[in-house]
Amino acid sequence: MISLQTLYQEVIIDHNRAPRNFHKIEDADCFADGFNPLCGDKVSVYLKISGNIITDVSFQGCGCAISTASASLMTESLKGKSLEEAKSLFEKFHLAVTEDKSDDEALGKLIALTGVREFPSRVKCATLAWHTLNAAMQSDTECVSTE
Ligand code: ZN
Repeated sequence: MISLQTLYQEVIIDHNRAPRNFHKIEDADCFADGFNPLCGDKVSVYLKISGNIITDVSFQGCGCAISTASASLMTESLKGKSLEEAKSLFEKFHLAVTEDKSDDEALGKLIALTGVREFPSRVKCATLAWHTLNAAMQSDTECVSTE
């Protein structure tokens, strides 16, 4: 039987080797750049938003396997979600990687990254894309629901 640890590692290796949504959205509604000086990870997150829904999300950057896989998994899990859902998912993910309070059902594939809580120095790698997303969502008034 494959251990969960091995399974998680495979998800991370796969997403690092072939990151999903790895491109720039030229006409993005909002974007932000993130940097994790502890590890040297850099990531830019781009969002297309219609009303209150994230219709497209992508990233670019360079960094360690954890930061790249995390950004890739994040973009996969955000498409079609509302801004509120994205924020709530970020909170759940953050709790899961820092305090071992994982809501497995809500996290889906993001569970693969929760192993980093054993390695505090890597938590910033795993959350960089999410912090950048948060900054992107707050960077532009167009991102805030006006309803
Ligand atoms: Zn890193």
